[in-house]
Amino acid sequence: MTDDHDGTRCVHAGLPEPAPGEPFLPGPVFAAPYHLDPWAGPAGTPNGYGRSDNPTRRRLEAAIGELEGGDCRAFASGQAAITGLLLSVLRSGDTVLLPADGYFPVRAFATETLAGIGVRVLFAPTAGPYPDLAGVRLVLVETPANPGLDVVDLPVLAARARAAGALLVVDNTTATPLGQRPLELGADLVVASGTKALTGHSDLLLGYVGTRSAELLAAVTRWRDHTGAVPGAFDAWLAHRSLATLDLRLARQTANAAALAELLAEQPGVTGLRWPGRPEDPAYPVAVAQLRRMPGVLSFDLGDADRVARFVAAARLVAAATSFGGLHTTADRRAQWGDDTPPGFVRLSCGVEDTTDLVADVAAALRVVGG
Ligand SMILES: *Cc1c(COP(=O)(O)O)cnc(C)c1O
Repeated sequence: MTDDHDGTRCVHAGLPEPAPGEPFLPGPVFAAPYHLDPWAGPAGTPNGYGRSDNPTRRRLEAAIGELEGGDCRAFASGQAAITGLLLSVLRSGDTVLLPADGYFPVRAFATETLAGIGVRVLFAPTAGPYPDLAGVRLVLVETPANPGLDVVDLPVLAARARAAGALLVVDNTTATPLGQRPLELGADLVVASGTKALTGHSDLLLGYVGTRSAELLAAVTRWRDHTGAVPGAFDAWLAHRSLATLDLRLARQTANAAALAELLAEQPGVTGLRWPGRPEDPAYPVAVAQLRRMPGVLSFDLGDADRVARFVAAARLVAAATSFGGLHTTADRRAQWGDDTPPGFVRLSCGVEDTTDLVADVAAALRVVGG
């Protein structure tokens, strides 16, 4: 690891050594089986069969691993990575602690699938308080949490988990490895959806698990090999191509979020504004100590579904869409997907549009909705 800064690290992450006549980032290798040496067989090459290995995917894993500061395995989606990690570690009779306000499908997986195979499932809000961790096998936190954007002090929780013999896993989707380095802050594992800001072009699904433990990495690799939730070569290549601009994209998204937070804070028709970068936000003290940059996502409440629809319809630069972290600004009324947020709750994901244009557009749309 060099002392390079974020922009430089993103541009170079996972690239092969320069070779005359070769591209900077080699194109995707499409293969199910590969040619084997007739005598050496699979021992003669890392590439035997596409589910276990692929050179395009290995390069992406090297890149994400460099940014997270650990070893990484890529999965077909964030859900595949998170559920794969949970199932490769947890056994019947174990206890797992999950965020009460985290990504809804993870909670649904826990109460339906994990509880069904005899895992005891506990929940705690991201901001705490956390229960006594004695007897807990694994603690999963999301920080900042999606969609509520609360944060938890990772070094403090890591010390508590270590003392109790529990593994600490951090979902780093919202922050990305440029915004937060959970493995440096004491987590045993990092998981994330690469579908969001990490790749940022709203054109692929991806997930990953990262760790510094050879043992945990081996368990996750075995699980992935046995269950097969791998990303295809083209998606892995697109993701790697997109990583080079991560620093630039996040810089604009954060600037847009800061400007919109300032605007939204003054609106009489907007309540419950959350953005961890606002000094008035309850998450701010921990966020400034722990995050290397603030996320481009904020959340607020417009009161009801109709006002949200009128706001999005009136905005020229805000698309109605779920997911977040992409180039285009989007707004999602989370309750329409059946999660447990209030009907007027909006998660707004800032794109990379010019700040002046975006602020003017959102201000005009809010005027249409009124106080
Ligand atoms: C989107 C998301 C996931 C799931 O990722 P997919 O790539 O959609 O499967 C997990 N955790 C968080 C915090 C997310 O935002």
